[in-house]
Amino acid sequence: MKLSHHGACGEVTGSCHLLEVGGRRVLIDCGLFQGTPADEERNRDPFPFDPKGIDAVVLSHAHIDHSGRLPLLVRRGFRGTIHTQQASIDLCEIMLKDAAYLHEKDAEWANRKRERRGQPAVEPLYTRQDAEATLGLFVGHRYGKFFDVVPGVRVRLHEAGHILGSAIVELRLREGELQRTLVFTGDLGHAGTPLLRFPARLHEADLVIMESTYGDRCHRDWAATWAEFGEVLHEARRSRGNILMPAFAVDRTQELLFAMSRHVDDWNLDHWHIFVDSPMAIRVTSVYLKYLDLLYEKAARELVDAATGPLLPHIRFTMTSEESMAINRIRSGALIIAGSGMCTGGRILHHLKHNVWRPETHVIIVGFQAEGTLGRALVDGADHIRLWGEKVVVKAKIHTIGGLSSHADQAGLRNWYREFRSRPPVVLVHGEPPALLALANVLRKENATHVWMARPGMRFDLGDLPVPSGTR
Ligand SMILES: [Zn+2]
Ligand SMILES: [Zn+2]
Repeated sequence: MKLSHHGACGEVTGSCHLLEVGGRRVLIDCGLFQGTPADEERNRDPFPFDPKGIDAVVLSHAHIDHSGRLPLLVRRGFRGTIHTQQASIDLCEIMLKDAAYLHEKDAEWANRKRERRGQPAVEPLYTRQDAEATLGLFVGHRYGKFFDVVPGVRVRLHEAGHILGSAIVELRLREGELQRTLVFTGDLGHAGTPLLRFPARLHEADLVIMESTYGDRCHRDWAATWAEFGEVLHEARRSRGNILMPAFAVDRTQELLFAMSRHVDDWNLDHWHIFVDSPMAIRVTSVYLKYLDLLYEKAARELVDAATGPLLPHIRFTMTSEESMAINRIRSGALIIAGSGMCTGGRILHHLKHNVWRPETHVIIVGFQAEGTLGRALVDGADHIRLWGEKVVVKAKIHTIGGLSSHADQAGLRNWYREFRSRPPVVLVHGEPPALLALANVLRKENATHVWMARPGMRFDLGDLPVPSGTR
């Protein structure tokens, strides 16, 4: 009985872990490496295992850093079943097709250049056809019900509170006389978001595989965060310009829309024309509305009420590029939510081009901005940016709302771990080194039996785990 780690080791992307039980192989997540071109180049490497030899996959949630190499696994021969929460299948349908389309476009663009240089053409990482084939392998499950993955591996999914359908994966393993319970957090949510439920608390495990994204940070509390957000809206109103909000299509956009619908009066939102200018965010919003039963109960009730009328006054969901371009003519009173969340592409770039040089514009940053992205340059106070080769001066006011995270912070992670009575050993994954180190120290103070930081290729014999000495 073995566990090995092949992604999200000392970094936050590429989640991928392999279980070997009784001669069967089960993959937990198969995510894309994201970030710099060198990071992304690793996606083309051969898998450190034979895709044809994998019997099944368990997917924690739909985010591309967890699901984004599944079509590649299929392209390279995987034919087993992919088990996940039902709503994650709907989200994967949107996200994997979109990812495949972007890989096809990337290859097309690279090949035009390569052809001019007399170089051989490259293949896309995978195609929309591969994504279609992958979607045919999914089987959906509800939270809280055990299912068999392969002989010797039973799994139960629990609410992770991170995005719709996100799951903590509990695995009950049996090989001969040996029995082990593993708990994989996936990405653990930030309790208290407007729409999602709290992450489930578990109490028993022989080993916990734990995410560490914000293992070294504390989030601002929700009340202060929303107060800050409302204050920025008032300030923008006084400037009489437009507001741009680069936002992730999955969860962040829906949480913002819902938060705004609750604060229509105190934030004077009837003065704004709100545009959701992202086809992906619009599709994802309809998936959220399909799974109201998975949302925080009170929010779900309010959304049902809103279904008879608009969620917000003057809201428009703009699917076509003609509708999107029409927004560019508006000089005042438009609140535009568009992707991509880090301004690395998408319609937000057009809105920046038409607005960011105007001092009456306000840009509200509501999500994480990675080093090297255009969004990060704005946060860091760049006095100009480059859009399609053109230098554009930044006169807009840039605001960063820090508290809107979809990951638990250090206290959230610690409190979640405290629920395990026996203080089981932990493997830390899905975090940058400073976050891993800080969280490891915190868990040692909590008397964790042992804490490892996963390294690529690290392999555990699960028969050999340090035995927890019980509650201390
Ligand atoms: Zn995630
Ligand atoms: Zn993740």
